[in-house]
This record gives sequence, C-alpha cells and structure tokens, in this order.
Amino acid sequence: MSNEITFASLNLAEPLLRAIADAGYTIPTPVQAQAIPLVLAGGDLLAGAQTGTGKTAGFTLPILHRLSEKPAAIPRAGKPRCLILTPTRELAAQVEESVQTYGKYLPLKSMVMFGGVNINPQIKSLRGQIDILVATPGRLLDHVGQKTLDLSGVEILILDEADRMLDMGFIRDIRKIIALLPKQRQNLLFSATFSDEIKTLSDGLLHNPGYVEVARRNTTSELVSQSVHMIPQKLKSHLLSHLIKHNNWQQVLVFTRTKHGANRLAEKLIADGIPSAAIHGNKSQSARTKALAQFKDGSLPVLVATDIAARGLDIDMLPHVVNFELPNVPEDYVHRIGRTGRAGSNGAAISLVDSEEIQHLKDIERLIKTQIPKVSIDSFVPPTHIPAEAPRPPRPQHGQRRHSNTTANPAGNGNRNQPPRNGQAAKPHQARNPQQRDPQAPRVGQQTAKPQQPRKPTEHKIMSEAARHQAMPQPALFSPRPAARRGK
Ligand code: AMP
Repeated sequence: MSNEITFASLNLAEPLLRAIADAGYTIPTPVQAQAIPLVLAGGDLLAGAQTGTGKTAGFTLPILHRLSEKPAAIPRAGKPRCLILTPTRELAAQVEESVQTYGKYLPLKSMVMFGGVNINPQIKSLRGQIDILVATPGRLLDHVGQKTLDLSGVEILILDEADRMLDMGFIRDIRKIIALLPKQRQNLLFSATFSDEIKTLSDGLLHNPGYVEVARRNTTSELVSQSVHMIPQKLKSHLLSHLIKHNNWQQVLVFTRTKHGANRLAEKLIADGIPSAAIHGNKSQSARTKALAQFKDGSLPVLVATDIAARGLDIDMLPHVVNFELPNVPEDYVHRIGRTGRAGSNGAAISLVDSEEIQHLKDIERLIKTQIPKVSIDSFVPPTHIPAEAPRPPRPQHGQRRHSNTTANPAGNGNRNQPPRNGQAAKPHQARNPQQRDPQAPRVGQQTAKPQQPRKPTEHKIMSEAARHQAMPQPALFSPRPAARRGK
C-alpha cells in the first residue's frame, strides 16, 4: 500500500515537500504513510514504531504542517506551541535536528533543551519565540520551576520513545508536565513496546486515538545479518580488535553492559591502534556530543556505548553493531541491532558470547524466534598472555535491567547544581526526587536486582554436557595452540 503513496499525495505543504526532496526521500516509510494523515486530521495517535522506521519524520512532518497552517494567535516568548519529550539528550538533539531539516523552508522556530549543560543559554533562547520545543523531562521542569518556560500554549504534545521514558523512571515527571498543559490539545505517543504501564499512560492521555503499528514488536530486520561468536569474556576485546582490523571495519557501534566496561574497552581498542570513544551517563555532555559527532561523520571508527546512552541514536547506514556483552533484557537486543540495517541498507550484528551468557542468548533467540548462527573466525589467534582483569560486577538476574545508584543521570535531568524546581527549596545533600537523580535507579515498588551470590562450584554441574560443550570455545575459533586455547 505504502508503495503507491507519495509525500505529495499525503497533502503536505509545499515547503515540506521541498525539504523532503532535499533530504533525498522519495516515498514515505510505512509509519509515515499511516501516521501522517492521522496527525494532519488533528486526532490523537498511538504509534508502535521503533527507531529506524522513519518515525521522527512520521510525527515531525505533520506537526510542522499543522503549526504553519494555523499561525499562533499572539506569538509569545518562551511559550511553545508543540512539546516533544524524549528520554535522552541524544535523542532530543536528533529530533530537533529533524525538525530543522524538515522545517527549513517554514518560518517556525524550534529549540532543544536538556540537562548536563549550562542552563543560561537555554534561558536566553527562551526569551525569543519558540514554536517547537524538544526536551528531556528533568531540565524542562527546571525551567518551569524558574518560570523561564510557559507551557500553557502547548497545542500538540508528543511523547517519543515513551517506553524508554518509563523504563528510566520519568513517569512522575511526565505526569507533572502533562498537568501543566492546556486540556485541549493533540497528543501523540510513540513507543517501541506496549507494556501495561504504557497502556495505563496512553489510556489516560489519548482520546480516541488512531493506531499505527509498523514493525511487530520484537522482530528483527531481515536486512540485518546476525551472528554469534562463542568466546570467553577475557578474549573478547582481542577478538573485537581482530575483527575490526582484519575486516577493515570503518564504523562500529559496540554495546557493553557497564560504563566501566565501556571505558576499559575503548582504552584497549585505542591501545591496539583503533581510534575509539566511550559514551555513557558518566561522561560529560560535551564529551558525548563530540564522540557522537565524530562517529557520525566517520572520523571515529568505533563508538562504545551502554544501552541507555545509545538509545535512539540515528546513524545512517550503520554497517556494524557489536554486542560485546549480551543485554540482560532480551528486548534490548532488538533495540541494539535496530541501529544497523536501517532505512533500507544492509547491516551486520555480531554478538560476542561467553559461556556464562548462554542463558541470555537462549532468551534472545526465544524472543526473536530465530536461532542466531554461531560462526568461527579461523584467522583469530588469541594472545598467549592475558593480564588479569579486575573482577566484574555481577549481572542482574535474567530479564532485569541493571540499576545503579552511583551513576550520573544519562538523560541529563539531574544536575545537582541546578536550582530547585517549582520554587521549592531542596534539602542539602538530598535529591528532591531520587528517581530523577538517576533514571536507572529502581522505581518505587519496583523489585531491585539482588546482587548474585558467588557461584557455588556445584552450580556448574547443572549445565548439561551438550550445553557445556556448546558453551566452551569451539576449537575452530582459534588457531591450534593448546596454551592459547586455555587462555594462558
Ligand atoms: P527514525 O526512525 O526517525 O530515527 O529514522 C531513521 C532514518 O530513516 C533516518 O536516518 C531518516 O533520515 C531516514 N528516513 C526517514 N524517512 C525516510 C524516507 N521516507 N525515506 C528514506 N529515509 C528516511
């Protein structure tokens, strides 16, 4: 159906069609073909669409059309007509970039706002006219508290990646923000998954919504070739260096389980002569922005990221995604590899799997209903001497997200140096909203992942012989050097 639909046939305004042509898009993606008419008609929308489906243009184009069609009665400084909320800084920046790209021939003004950066330039921008505001929830509430932002003129609200916002503990902030908006408005909710929490949120927010779902939940793109390398944890960085060098990979996004792991891996790759940078919630915003920009423009071949930092990254034609460790939550595997094979291009997703991760692999394969082929690399010769590594932190139990109370806020919504919101005085040394301070922190009533007890030796017996054989490094993976095979 979408093949017969053109952007012109969707009745988008001419300045938008010109910008679309400049971007090189010829036909709308399925989410665009379905969502654009519904949003243009002015109704609420519930959309199940992941990053990579073209969802950003799916909501940006029709809202630009609607806002330009009906100019603001009295344009006022710091009073946006459209509010787009995103879970992370990177996604906010990306969405606002799209607003600028598609709206470049329209006289509408947009602004992006997130934490982790100086608030003053944002306050200055808010003194001018803003039609479209793209924001992460915490910094937005900080502005509301300082009365530098007025939400009473919002005609359209978009929650982008709503599922991740809930995962990150933003529900209370979202509810606070919604309470500040005019009752009469258009609401669009985009989410990759539909949990009960999302359902509750959408039931309260949306009125008679149109419904669009483009990629079935937990399906992986056919454009992505997936493979697994069975390899002991301590050899993974060596194999990754080998894969990058041997195959001359130019742009690789690598996912690690922890922030420290990301740092360590980036350092190791740099030591191996492969320019790399790590992005995660403990990095400054300027370091994250710089690394991402260099990765996008091709000057930095390897970006090592944790799940939350990488969420929503849109990097065109990303050829390689590597899971240095498998995620604890199987759905995150689908999100991760969604970064490749995008917008019609082919990509490869490679997972390095230690025997301890076998259960995670099985969970993922069950979810995506596919057996990921296990491949071996005959050309890889593991080093004969591997320095001892610091002990790794325990994994949360299967299917649980990792929570840490010691990390900085990856969405940049918890800058301790910021003045309090809503004019309230913050107690010294006490975050006003602990979940706000750290979106990875457990939510009220949520079960916290218990640290794993040290493994008892007998636990190994639980694994069947067949599973154990499968879990062990396969001889073909390595050169026939017995000492090396034992990792000595
Ligand atoms: P998104 O899912 O919004 O992150 O978009 C994924 C990628 O698809 C972005 O790089 C867009 O530039 C690209 N894209 C969006 N719409 C189209 C289209 N109609 N044709 C080709 N590429 C598109």
